[in-house]
Amino acid sequence: MRVPFSYLDRQFANPEPVLDEIRELVKTGQFTLGPAVAEFEKRFAELCGAKHAIGVGSGTDALILPMKLSGIGPGDEVITAANTFIASVGAIAMTGATPVLVDNDEGYVLDPEKIESALTPRTKAILPVHYSGNVANMPAICKLAERHNLLVIEDACQAIGATWNGQQAGTFGLAGGFSLHPLKNLHVWGDAGVVITNSDEFAENLKLYRNHGLVNRDEVAFFGHNSRIDALQAVIGNQLIGETEQNNQKRIQIAEKYDNAFKLLQPQVKIPKREEPVRHVFHLYILRVERRNELLEYLIDKGVEAKIHYPIPIHLQEAAKPLGYQRGDFPVAEEDADLMITLPAHQYLTEEEVDYTIETLKQFYA
Ligand SMILES: *Cc1c(COP(=O)(O)O)cnc(C)c1O
Repeated sequence: MRVPFSYLDRQFANPEPVLDEIRELVKTGQFTLGPAVAEFEKRFAELCGAKHAIGVGSGTDALILPMKLSGIGPGDEVITAANTFIASVGAIAMTGATPVLVDNDEGYVLDPEKIESALTPRTKAILPVHYSGNVANMPAICKLAERHNLLVIEDACQAIGATWNGQQAGTFGLAGGFSLHPLKNLHVWGDAGVVITNSDEFAENLKLYRNHGLVNRDEVAFFGHNSRIDALQAVIGNQLIGETEQNNQKRIQIAEKYDNAFKLLQPQVKIPKREEPVRHVFHLYILRVERRNELLEYLIDKGVEAKIHYPIPIHLQEAAKPLGYQRGDFPVAEEDADLMITLPAHQYLTEEEVDYTIETLKQFYA
């Protein structure tokens, strides 16, 4: 049996309905902004329980633009989680600010208890990452941010539909950034991203900022970027957005089944602590396991496409050299890099494939 990590070939086994919509767009010639983008933004905002959604060129831009628009730049420090996809840290660096890492907790999200000691007079913002589809402790983070007068911009790229006490990831801070990269829970056929915010003023400015600062064809309010979501990608987003909740539910079901099965494999297999207020949407289903590299090889040999997210912690990457970190600085993130394994847990897995994955892990540790 082969249990694939990517499901795109299954999802688009019949691409015709999407291609039909693209044909309709071509007839109109409205390739930049226009009605498809407006519709997608409206539906995205509704889905996330936010007042506004602004489509941009990528998830990375969905972090860079709100930070830059908030005035974050050279001389500032922005705090983010040590274990994240590289783009969270890269986005901070692209504003000209200095990324300051803080260790994550055992749920792979920023540990609020460790933020305080990373603060300096230059700290301007916190960028919590809702890694793997889990949600960082936003009430604690927002309280701390308020006390120290810091902005909060959320990296919700992996967490569409995730909630903390019923409140959606991305709606706690000034803005939340989402990615529509082909492997995210809601995605398009290439690169795109979305920023959500409840601030009318911020939304208005961001709409200008992603489009050269143009108020209309002839007038410019301020200098800006060109980072609009493609109308073509918005068409695809409109086709897929209605499935998001159902897909998340399927992932949650699979994760529950995995959790129940893998509980019996402790202590060789450790399930991350599931925080009670969190609705985790399992963009990634990650375990901490003994003999990780051996298990990875075994799973792949048996056809289960497991992955490591990620084997080298960011602070030990070549790119992070100028930040001056050393091995030992972020013990949880470092341990994660050695113990983590990600199993396929997407909505297109069959019952048999989920069972086979469970059985294969059991066999390995038997
Ligand atoms: C995917 C991702 C991004 C970047 O999104 P792109 O659309 O690939 O630019 C940023 N942060 C996290 C945590 C991500 O998973």
